[in-house]
Amino acid sequence: MKYACKECKRVMAQKECYYCKKESGSNDWGGLLIIIDPENSEISERSGYTVPGKYALKIR
Ligand SMILES: [Zn+2]
Repeated sequence: MKYACKECKRVMAQKECYYCKKESGSNDWGGLLIIIDPENSEISERSGYTVPGKYALKIR
């Protein structure tokens, strides 16, 4: 897990985001937010994450 997508904030191993289908990954990011159960998570509700996964909190 080296890159974080600048568009959807997903954390991933490669620069190309499988979700956005482009090279939108940045290796300058910080903070990891793990969403396991979006329907029962207050954090995901507040931040708008509806799909389980790993997300970066800050991306430059
Ligand atoms: Zn993306």
